[in-house]
Amino acid sequence: MRVLVTRTLPGKALDRLRERGLEVEVHRGFFLPKEELLKRVEGAVGLIPTVEDRIDAEVMDRAKGLKVIACYSVGVDHVDLEAARLRSIRVTNTPDVLTEATADLTLALLLAVARRVVEGAAYARDGLWKAWHPELLLGLDLQGLTLGLVGMGRIGQAVAKRALAFGMRVVYHARTPKPLPYPFLPLEELLETADIVSLHTPLTPETHRLMDRRRLLSMKPGTILLNTARGGLVDTEALVEALRGHLFGAGLDVTDPEPLPPDHPLYRLRNAVITPHIGSAGRTTRERMAEVAVENLLAVLEGREPPNPVAYAPWAFSSASSAGSSAASWA
Ligand code: NAP
Repeated sequence: MRVLVTRTLPGKALDRLRERGLEVEVHRGFFLPKEELLKRVEGAVGLIPTVEDRIDAEVMDRAKGLKVIACYSVGVDHVDLEAARLRSIRVTNTPDVLTEATADLTLALLLAVARRVVEGAAYARDGLWKAWHPELLLGLDLQGLTLGLVGMGRIGQAVAKRALAFGMRVVYHARTPKPLPYPFLPLEELLETADIVSLHTPLTPETHRLMDRRRLLSMKPGTILLNTARGGLVDTEALVEALRGHLFGAGLDVTDPEPLPPDHPLYRLRNAVITPHIGSAGRTTRERMAEVAVENLLAVLEGREPPNPVAYAPWAFSSASSAGSSAASWA
């Protein structure tokens, strides 16, 4: 029985699959083109894909005996869940183990944007630092600012804890209010109130372009937008306009499209700090994600209930859409 893993994974988790007698094929390298994925998935009973692999009905049909798609991520917007349901293929993910790392990166982006860290580092490295001045590279003081979290699950709550330590006030929006010590606000009210807006919802048909032009414009002048969730939550073109206008800045770990082409206007904006989807990229975190993905995969193949099953949602992305692309659409 063969398992396809679409990237090399840190740590030794894959050894567990080999010890169970499974043949493990690993794609060594970066992006796995669709044509190659289609060839290599043939005959696989298990698949461990990354967020960059679009796992649609065509992929599933090529792997006739496929039993489990064990995502190496908590987000599952790259998998056509409806197609998996129709083929009785189990889908699993890796929640919890990446929560703290992703919250850490959210704070790293917030500090980088608010205190102009990337600009300052470039200023120094480029030899422009000749003298100290009281008005050089002035940024935002975090203490006393209001952080508006959109999505208040595992990562949103972990970001809230960190924000309190910086003396920020926390408000949030989610589908339903939670028994938490922070005020719940309707989204529009949150956008009018918060000094920093940080996105932590999954990408679904309801959240696609949640931050559209109208909402970006309704944010207070001088606000920071953070996105460590999914690029498709934000209208990128409108964000570029807002960053040239009333926003203080943006910290983006995810973009739409993803990756951003090197000549993208976002890279030319000094108030945008962009990282290449590294929210969970702590070594220990990435090793634990591999262990969780392997445990989920083995559980399904051995007829046990996997620890992290993904509920099939009553929607599916268009199989024509490409990974992270703004072309994504849902039935
Ligand atoms: P989670 O625990 O499931 O939390 C998701 C939150 O989003 C919940 O509070 C949920 O509200 C809210 N939500 C869902 N749909 C909504 C809607 N239509 N409107 C408003 N709120 C909505 O997920 P998590 O573990 O925190 O992860 C969140 C996302 O972060 C993942 O789906 C993934 O895409 C992304 N992520 C990115 C990275 C990275 O590398 N940058 C790493 C990890 C995760 P309810 O509680 O009311 O249902």
